[in-house]
Formats: sequence, C-alpha cells, structure tokens
Amino acid sequence: MSLVPRIHVLSDGLINRIAAGEVVERPASVVKELVENSLDAEATKIEVDLVNGGRSRVRVSDDGCGMDADDAVLALERHATSKISTADELDHIATLGFRGEALPSIAAVSRFVLVTCADPAQGGVRVTVEGGRILAADGAARARGTTVEVGDLFFNTPARRKFLRSPETELRHAQEILWGAALARPDVSFVLRHGSRTLIDTPAVVDASQRLKDLWHKADRVVAFGATAGEAEVRGLLAPGGGSGRPALTLLVNGRAVRDRLVVGAVLRVLRSAGAGFGGARVVVDLRLPPGEVDVNVHPAKAEVRFSRSGSVFALIERAMREGVAASQGRVEVRALEDGAPLRGVADPRAGGYGEMIRNRQARGGGALFDHPAYGEVSIEGPVDDHTAGTTWRPEKDHPRVRSGARAGAPDTPFGRLIGQYRNSFLLLEDDHGLVIVDQHVAHERVLFDQIRRRLAGGEAPSQGLLAPCLIEVDEAHAAALPGVENILRKVGIEAELFGPETIRVLAVPPEFDEEAVKEVVEGVLDRATALDGVPENASQELEEELAASLSCRGAIKVNHRLTVDEQRALLDDLLATDNPYRCPHGRPIVLRLSQEEMERRLGRR
Ligand code: ADP
Ligand code: MG
Repeated sequence: MSLVPRIHVLSDGLINRIAAGEVVERPASVVKELVENSLDAEATKIEVDLVNGGRSRVRVSDDGCGMDADDAVLALERHATSKISTADELDHIATLGFRGEALPSIAAVSRFVLVTCADPAQGGVRVTVEGGRILAADGAARARGTTVEVGDLFFNTPARRKFLRSPETELRHAQEILWGAALARPDVSFVLRHGSRTLIDTPAVVDASQRLKDLWHKADRVVAFGATAGEAEVRGLLAPGGGSGRPALTLLVNGRAVRDRLVVGAVLRVLRSAGAGFGGARVVVDLRLPPGEVDVNVHPAKAEVRFSRSGSVFALIERAMREGVAASQGRVEVRALEDGAPLRGVADPRAGGYGEMIRNRQARGGGALFDHPAYGEVSIEGPVDDHTAGTTWRPEKDHPRVRSGARAGAPDTPFGRLIGQYRNSFLLLEDDHGLVIVDQHVAHERVLFDQIRRRLAGGEAPSQGLLAPCLIEVDEAHAAALPGVENILRKVGIEAELFGPETIRVLAVPPEFDEEAVKEVVEGVLDRATALDGVPENASQELEEELAASLSCRGAIKVNHRLTVDEQRALLDDLLATDNPYRCPHGRPIVLRLSQEEMERRLGRR
C-alpha cells in the first residue's frame, strides 16, 4: 500500500464537467456559445427561446449549414471542431468558435437535445444527451439548420446551480449577449423570446446604426463616429439616452463582442467629461485591429481579449469617442489649433503684457496652478519656469486682411482678446484670425494633468486626512492589487490601505478632491493594475498615466460652471504654461478657431 497518490488520466466525462465550469457560467453563456455556433454556421436567422431566464430552458435554432448524422455525434466530443485544424490557423481565427469545447461542456451539465440537418434530402438527426451521456441518436425531420435545446442547466452540479441568480437577472445577461451578437451582425436577423414574450425581433439590415434603432426604441437619434490610427480602426455609435443611469457599452473587437473594463472606463470617462446629457446612453464601439495585435485566446469563454498595444488602443477609442460626443452635441466646422501652431496676431507674451503678468505671478511664488478660486484654495508648486519658452510665439504683422474690414480688438490674454464665457462652458476670444474657442474643462484637465505629473515625478503632494475614513468595497483581485499601487497613490496624496479581504480604507485624499472622486480614481487605478498583472515592464508608468488622467478629469472644472473674468484669465494663463496648451493628454483638442474667412464665406460676404 502506498500513501503517495497515483496519477491517473481523467475521464472525458469528468474533463467536460471541469471545462463546463469555465465555459458555462450561467444561461447567458449557453446563449453566447450557441448563437456563436449559429453565426459560424452562416445562419441568416437565429431564434432564441428562454424559459425562466434560461434556467429551465435555453433553445437556439438557426437556418445555418447544419450537420450530418456523423458530425452531430462527433460535435459532442471534446475538442471536436470543424473550424481550425493547424496551429497556424490559431493566429488568424475567422470564426467565433475554435476550441471545440462548448457543445460537450454544455451537454455535460444539462439535459441536452441537438436536432440538425445538413441536407433535407438525407433527413436530419436528433441526439439526446443527459449529463454528458448520449442516450439516443435517431433520425428526425427538420429543414436545413440546427436547433439546440438545453434544459435544466446544472441539474447535476448543484454547487453551480446555487450561484444562478433570479430569472430576471439571468434574462438580463442573456439579453446583453443577444445585443452584442445583433450589433456585431446587423445582416442576420435575431429573435429573443422569454416565455410568451418577444423581447427582440430584428430584421436583417445593412448597417449597425439601423440595428441599434431597431433594438432600442428609445434611440431616436444615433450618431456614428470613427477614428483610425495606422491599421487600427474604431467605428462607433452613440445614442444619447435622455435619461439617467450609467451609460451602457457594447464593445466589439474584430467582430466579437467582448468585455473590457478598461475600455468601459475610457468610454465612461469621455462621457462624464462631456458633462450632462449622456445618462442612460447606449454606446457601441466596433474596433478593428490586425489579427496579430489582439489575442482572443485568453479567456475560456472568449469574453475577454488581450491587446498587444493596449495604450494606443485606448487612446484611439478615446479619440473616437470624443468625436462622437462632439458630433452628437452638434458642431460648426472649426479647425483645431494644432500643436505648436503659432497664434498669429498676438503679441509676444514674453515681451510684456501677459508675459509680464505670468512672470509676476510666478515671482510672487504663486503656483500657476491651484491658486485661484476656480481651483479651490490650495496653493502648492514652485515656479513654472521656462514652460512658455517651448511654445511658438511669433508676432505676425502681415495677417490677411478680412474683407469686411472687421478688426480684432487688442489682445488681452495669450490667446487673444477675451470676449467672455459661453454657456458657462467655453471661453470665447477673438484674435486677428477669427473666433477662438477654449473648452474650459479640457483646458483645466490639461493644467491639472501637468501638475499631477510633476507630483508623480517626485514633488511633494499635499494630502488631507479624512475625519471618517472612507471605505471602498472591491473584489479580491482588486484588493490584492492594492499593495502594488499604494506607493503611486501616496505620491499624489491618497493614503489607502487594506481593511479586510474585500475592503479598502482611504485615510487621506488630496485637498482638491472629494471622496467620491477619489473612490472612483482608486477603483480605476486598481482596474488597470489588475489588467496589467503579469505585464510588469512599464506597468508603473502606465499606472501613473492612468492615475494622472483620471485625477485630472475628475478634478477639472466641468462644463456648465460659471467662471469670473479673473478666473477665465487665470485659466488661460495656466493653460499657456502647460507642456502643450493645444492638446489634452489624450489628444483631444483644447482650442479651436472659427476663422474670419470661414465666417464671411458662410455669411455670403465672400
Ligand atoms: P467550436 O465552435 O469551438 O468549434 P463547439 O463545441 O461549439 O466548438 O461546436 C463543435 C462543432 O459542432 C463545430 O465546430 C461545428 O462544426 C459544429 N456545430 C456546432 N453548432 C453548430 C450549428 N449551429 N450549425 C452547424 N454546425 C454546428
Ligand atoms: Mg462554438
């Protein structure tokens, strides 16, 4: 007799049940796998029927290619797939499925019936399986296509069944899956029924924007937007909800609906910084990347992907989103003042004027940054020294004359003559070229971003203890990530520590930020830290970027916020002192100009 456990190979039945634990989490995962199979089979119509949120029954039927009798039985074997056969193909997966795991896994934990027919002339087949055991395979009449019925999910794994939620919750998850599939494939028609209720019934259409309107009747207006960077492309849809609540995002990566907390974070951040009007909005982000830049084989249910260059992917998505937001808010054709573009017609600020003003403020030791009422009362930061030297200031006398003879007033800020604040959101100025528009939120975000970056580079961060520490409930993975980011948080003035396995306690925050803001910022950084887990190189730099970006976004004055004339001027001065007054850290323009020429042309003066 030996006490050493002997190694033995698990039976297929047991392996399938273990795999089911990864692939099949809930009825929605069954819906996802079956719908993906139908799409891979080139169905043009897919019908999904659920009973009891899918807990009692999930049935998916399609008019796809079907299977012959032999394949129908083979499909239930582990790693049986018609979709890839060589290792090479794994790098260029064109189908949604490829592992040959779904059917056997689902069949292992349910009462499962597959009815399929590849060629009506030959007849179809019905395979009945219970808990992974094939009970029968008989001939059956069926038109070309496949129906899979999954009853009593987890009937033989009570521990898993216990984790199922209410039918309403399970239904909501399943519905979300259908949304993803339906938005990815507007050319396929989808039906979702729950009991006798039809929840989705969308005909095939040519574009996703029509599909979104069909799916979501609240969407009277859908704005399409997009951006490209090299071979990467984002196309998106934004349907303002006109309500409240968290905006919902459907993310598609190379035609596959996936989840990505970081992308969700980026999208929410853009919507939030745009101000009100996006409560309950629906966003679809359709990202196309060269197959080599995205790994779809990192999650058992293929619900998550990994980007090889995640930073540039987020930047691209943010840029596209900002486009979408701008488009949905309506816009005039104006040109961004590009990086380093000379602001013509403005006197050199280093030779007196505001240059003097800024130097005076610096000489007074006034941090250019937080020391005026718009930013709260705290004063920190040494001189901003030579920041102005980097920007191109070229007085230009021979600017083209405008026909109307309209002349700009004498400039009284670095960006021209201040006209005032428009809708409590934008600063309007005139220069010799036309009308200059500065987005106050993004401008302040830029100012704060530079400020926080300096703190991260080693400056002292002011921090203020909280009378009552604030608690953040997180999951274990986030809690485990805290020690790795504590240091970075401290550098910006946030003191946080573990306070139980799933709770984080925040003891001190930077004085400019409220608790809610800090909570969100800490969560964001932990999100990124967990996502970066296992990517140690550059991780801390990425974390610092994330922290600086989210802190500055949360801390920046919002749109719809009234500024006094002094505050407006101070903001423009501070903006000038940043590394790049024309672009926010994510590449969003800060300053726009509507040229006099354009204005006159449109008004029929030219
Ligand atoms: P995978 O999708 O990864 O190949 P599955 O276990 O989901 O693995 O399916 C196994 C095989 O069964 C598929 O490769 C396909 O050949 C066949 N199959 C599954 N569902 C369908 C369907 N609805 N229509 C036609 N063939 C199907
Ligand atoms: Mg599959």
